[in-house]
Amino acid sequence: MQNETDVPEAARHEWTELVEQVNDHQFAYYVKDAPTVSDADYDRLLQRIEALEEQHPVLRSPDSPTQRVGGTFSTEFAPVKHLERMLSLDNVFSEDDLREWLSRAEREAGGDINFLCELKIDGLAINLLYEDGALTRATTRGDGTTGEDVTLNARTIDGIPLRLKENGDAPMPKAVEVRGEVFLPVEAFQQLNADLVEQGKPPYANPRNTAAGSLRQKNPKVTASRPLQMLVHGIGHREGFTIERQSQAYDLLRAWGLPVTERSKVVTKPDEVVQFVEYYGKHRHDVEHELDGIVVKVDEVPAQRALGNTSRAPRWAIAYKYPPEEVNTKLLDIRVNV
Ligand code: NAD
Repeated sequence: MQNETDVPEAARHEWTELVEQVNDHQFAYYVKDAPTVSDADYDRLLQRIEALEEQHPVLRSPDSPTQRVGGTFSTEFAPVKHLERMLSLDNVFSEDDLREWLSRAEREAGGDINFLCELKIDGLAINLLYEDGALTRATTRGDGTTGEDVTLNARTIDGIPLRLKENGDAPMPKAVEVRGEVFLPVEAFQQLNADLVEQGKPPYANPRNTAAGSLRQKNPKVTASRPLQMLVHGIGHREGFTIERQSQAYDLLRAWGLPVTERSKVVTKPDEVVQFVEYYGKHRHDVEHELDGIVVKVDEVPAQRALGNTSRAPRWAIAYKYPPEEVNTKLLDIRVNV
């Protein structure tokens, strides 16, 4: 085993500097909703930290950004503890790494599994708590354990039902944490910016940060004035029902009246996952919201349990990230106006 003292000074110094940079970028992105570098540049910093930790495992401390859910919560909102932790996702950036992940998931799940492929919506994670069918709390992800109370703002978003629909196939749950993504459709974002430019005001940087800034407003009227939408992609804490497959959870959420994407697909073979990734690589601009990749989830809940979680992400899901598009980097030069 490697000792603290075995790490060359240059490697430790580089790691410390990179972690400081990542912490600063996380603050700008998650708290101020105003990133100062592109996502691709941010991802490269994280990958370099990973590489250093791979070479010198003692650097991998619990507070390393590779080990925790990125993000924090601002004192402007009341802190709320999630009933079940909200995790992030691990990333792959190449087809080879995706195929390696798929084989490992199949091997470690120890049986035949299906993969649920869906779009990675570039928005802001939200946690909706429904108790006896009523929306009682809406929170941001925060650091994964504690989020920000944005209930009043979330209630202004059209797609978020204040009450779940009772349905023969989907009896009312005692309690359920619904996980989803709040986003601003690309067209609405472009319209918003065109209006601002016409008024001589600076435009917003990108739909993701505009959506985040719009949801995290002290005044719910501002949130209500933005055409935000939401799609749900998971369940956290649950009481009074069980699910066997992730895709079955989506049917249930749909039956309760929650907006679920129609663009997901259950497949059995790694080649089909790659086809899904390639299809949306070509068609990502035909989708109404921005997407920065594809999320692949093991569909069977028992297999998800067998695979478990790391400290920051499920081991039963992966995000394939598309290569960066030049336009994002250029747009970041524009001052964020939220
Ligand atoms: P992430 O955004 O890469 O992935 C996790 C999140 O994806 C989940 O929390 C969930 O809300 C969301 N998601 C979207 N669609 C989903 C789906 N279909 N199923 C499940 N989850 C889905 O991870 P993160 O930890 O939130 O953020 C890291 C990323 O954010 C970085 O890779 C970078 O792109 C960006 N970032 C950028 C900066 C910057 O300064 N530019 C700073 C911090 C983070």
